[in-house]
Order: sequence, then C-alpha cells, then structure tokens
Amino acid sequence: MVIKSRWALPLPQVSLPTWIFDSPTADLPTIPAYISANEPDKYFLSLSDYRLYAQRLASGLRRSGLQPGDRVLLFSGNTLFFPSFIMGVVMAEGVFTGANPTYVARELAYQLKDSGARYLICAEGSLETGIAAAKEIGMGADQIFVFDDGIATFQGRKVEKSTELGTVRHWTDLLDSEEQGRNYAWPDLRTDEELDRVILLNYSSGTTGVAKGVMLTHKNYVANCSQQVHISSRAKNFAQNLPHKRYLCFLPMYHAMAQAVFCYNAMKLRVPVYMMPKFDFLEMLQYVQKYRITDLILVPPVVVAMAKHPATRKFDLSSVESVGSGAAPLGHEVIQEFERLWPNGQVNVTQGWGMTEVTCATTAFDPSKHSESFSVGEVLANCEAKIVLDDEGKVEAKQGERGEVWVKGPNVMKGYWNKPEATREAITSDGWLKTGDVAYVDEQNHFFIVDRKKELIKVKGLQVAPAELEALLLDHPEVQDAAVIGITVNGDELPRAYIMPQSQDKATPETAENIKKWVAERVSRHKRLEGGVHFIEAVPKNPSGKILRKQLREMAALEDTKA
Ligand code: AMP
Repeated sequence: MVIKSRWALPLPQVSLPTWIFDSPTADLPTIPAYISANEPDKYFLSLSDYRLYAQRLASGLRRSGLQPGDRVLLFSGNTLFFPSFIMGVVMAEGVFTGANPTYVARELAYQLKDSGARYLICAEGSLETGIAAAKEIGMGADQIFVFDDGIATFQGRKVEKSTELGTVRHWTDLLDSEEQGRNYAWPDLRTDEELDRVILLNYSSGTTGVAKGVMLTHKNYVANCSQQVHISSRAKNFAQNLPHKRYLCFLPMYHAMAQAVFCYNAMKLRVPVYMMPKFDFLEMLQYVQKYRITDLILVPPVVVAMAKHPATRKFDLSSVESVGSGAAPLGHEVIQEFERLWPNGQVNVTQGWGMTEVTCATTAFDPSKHSESFSVGEVLANCEAKIVLDDEGKVEAKQGERGEVWVKGPNVMKGYWNKPEATREAITSDGWLKTGDVAYVDEQNHFFIVDRKKELIKVKGLQVAPAELEALLLDHPEVQDAAVIGITVNGDELPRAYIMPQSQDKATPETAENIKKWVAERVSRHKRLEGGVHFIEAVPKNPSGKILRKQLREMAALEDTKA
C-alpha cells in the first residue's frame, strides 16, 4: 500500500535565499541570530548580517571568476560564518559542498576530486590536511583560502598562511565591500527549470558503494524546509511560543540535518541559534542551562549520554520544551529514561527519519500528538512512501509487515553527481527513491525503522561506507580479501572487518592489531575498525561477487553471543 501524507502544502516557487530572506533588500532583524555560545556578548551575527556576508561573498566570488555551477568546498567545523558561506555560494549560483572537518587528507582529496571543486576553503587548524589533499589532486595555492574560527574575521584580521604550495589567502579576500554586497541581487528564480538547479552536493554512500555527491536543488530545500516547518508548527501554542524559542547547535553543518534546521529553518522562523564550534557533553549541558535553551535537536548518542550520565542531573534543564532526534535508531527504553529527566513530563521526544538523498527528512512525529514509542512519525506533507518486499518494488507489504521503504516527494534528490548509473539504481523511472531502510507501519501510518538493508554503517550518526574501508583494506599487504559490516554495541554501531589473509598462518591477533592500526592511520576517527578485525577463510559472496553481508552479520551476532 502507498501511504500518502495527510497534508498537501502549496510550496513556494522561490529560491532558497528568497525563502529565507524574502529579497536582497527586504528589512531584516538586526538582533543576534547566530550567537557564539562561548562569547555571546562579543561574537554574534544578526539575520541581516547573515544575508549581507552572503551577498558580499557572492559578489566577490563572481568577481573572482566563479561561474554558475562551479563547486566550492568548505572544510571546516561550525563557525558563525558557516551559514553565510553556504548561502554566499548559492547566491553566486555556485554549488556548495561541505566536508567532514575530521577527514584525513585522503578522504578530503576524494571529495575535492569527485566534486571537481574550483576552490577549497579550509579551516585554519586543518590547513595541513587541506594542503596535502590539494597537492594530491593538483590544486594550486590560488584556489585555497583560510577560514578562521570567526574571531579573526570579526576583528578584521586577514589570516594568510605560507604553505608548501605557496601563500594561501584569507577567505575575507573573497568578500566584496558592504556596499557592493548590498547591491548584489541573487537571481530571482521562479520557473521549475530554474528552481531545479543544483545548489548543494552533500556526500553520502546511499545504499551501496562509496560516498557520492547528492545533488540538491532550490526546489528540494524549499520543499523539505517548508515540510519541516509545517510539521513543527503543529505543536501546541507554536506561534505564541516562537518568540521565546532558543536553539543550541553542535551538530555539524556539512551534514543535511544541521543545514536544514539551523542554517535555514531557524532563520525562517527567526529563532536565535547558540553555536558551539564542536560537541562537548558538559559544555552542552551548561549552555542549555545558561541560555535557557527551549528546543534540542539531538542525535541518539547524545540522547543516550544525557539519559545515562549522572552529570545531566546536576544541570537545570527546565527550559527545554521540545526534543527531536534523528540520524540513527533510538530505542524506546532510552527515550523513556531520557524523558524522566523532566519529572513533570514536560518533554516528549519525537523522532524524524531521513537521509541525505531526501534533502534531510521524510517522516516526522506530529508534535500535536504524544509519542509513546520509538516511531519516527508519519510522512511529511506532499510526500508518499511504500514498504516493499522485493527488489523490484512489485510486492507491497501489508500494515505491520516489514520491508524496504521507498519514498517519493519534492525533497527527493535530483540524483548523484556525475553518477547516472548510481542514480538509476537509487531512483526508479517513476520517481521512487529506494532508501535501503527496513520499516513497518502501524494502523495510524506511523513508521517504525527496524533494520537496514543497505551496506551503510552509522557511527554516532556519521556515515561509514563499508566499500571505502574494503577498498582500503585490499591495499594492506596481509589482506587478500575483506568485508566490513556494522555491529551494534550498547546501542551504537561500530565497523568490523572480516579478513581473508594472504596466508592462514598470518591470521593472528598481532596481524589483526596491525591491520586495525594501519586503517586508523588512514581514516577519520569514526571509520576506525573499533568493532574488531576478524579472520575468515573466505569472504562469503554470491555468484556475481556481491558480498553476502547478511551472512556476516549473522556470524557476528553468533560470535558476539559466544564471547
Ligand atoms: P544520512 O544520509 O547520513 O542522513 O543517513 C541516513 C540514514 O540514517 C538512514 O537511511 C537511516 O539508515 C539512518 N537514520 C536516519 N534517521 C533515522 C532514525 N530516526 N531511525 C533510524 N535510522 C535512521
């Protein structure tokens, strides 16, 4: 059965900058909108500043020769200027792509090369990695700029760096003057064709293979953000409560979730965002207390930590009204434990479910109802979903029956960047996106995500593509063949490698340790083989060479129960 949303929204036919800012010249609030959680009195930007920095950047990028469709890669943790940076590239008609700031040079080089980035804007503290990656793919110093943590920019300092590729300039060299910025008008796009232009490439491995650039358009973002704002607005007293809402952001802005919630929706709703440059558990609790944060947008590891850590109870969290979680599975028992942090029952955790390929979210729990389970809610406005039992999607599941979820809607990506075949595999000719997630629905059409059919592993909400680790492992001299799966430990996933060694006498704990260390030196932290390195005689595969991951997962479960 196809499950259609209860709601059909008229979606605005405008570009993403117009959706947020109305127009290049509309009056905008000048009160703080992005506020440094460390130094709130010193460092903040208003909505008006957000637009002006973006306009100055757009004007400067065009002056520097950026052509419509050119990609610009930002390799940085969150700063107050991150949203302006995204929007500046979009206003200049470029394509923004953000890389995980913990990447090692090899990983960054892959994204730089795959996206064909014209510019690399690199956090000051990650310049060594940025330069190594740029060198690997032959980028010159004139294509690289330093992005500071915001302080130098506020102080009007230009951080230039001399590197082995030559001197790299500060990103503010790309900013035109305030006057030029005010005069910069991004194109007023209205037609379907114009709004179907790609503005962002967020990287995701999807259901199979290595990370691919997910092409997202103005239409995708305006639709998905409108859908999310619509479902949020169903909360009781939403309009009355809006003026006193305050968000706290520590989720990374290179990822779909923080982009939609903090860079776009919060600004559309005029909700101020206190920004943490990176996640720190105790600091987060302090800030919730200090700034009387009303809404928490969390990922499961943070919900678990808050529920379990004794420190949580030492803080005054009474300001919290709403808690949303997404990006990975969250069990009902943890939710109940978490909700007990507020003994008067004021907090009800609602979950949403999505993936990079649907811009951000496809389902969410209607906040006008009370969630009493681990359901990820119902399909957002203008979306439809079905649960299928076969690979072709011909056999649809009945209510309560588990199967793969396929979704359709205006938030489904345009496709994978430069990978038409992967796009054809992911989206059927009649527009259904195969999510690779396994779910069932109850009689109220609430979705329950219960498993994953795809290869993807998620560690602390971050993607790990087995195919990437498998390809890397094959470069190790002791490895003849390899398969990587995710194992679940205390509610979180960890990557585990099954290795067929070059010779069975090498299948020793020392070799396993050596392989684990070797991988750790070549990948960012969340991709390390913390689930272990195990040896097998041969990697189980089907006749066409596809790894039988289900078999390995069953084997892992058996091994782990015995251990
Ligand atoms: P990403 O593209 O990085 O956002 O990852 C998307 C994947 O994360 C989904 O396909 C799911 O496997 C998983 N995911 C996201 N939200 C949830 C959720 N609420 N419950 C279970 N899994 C989720």
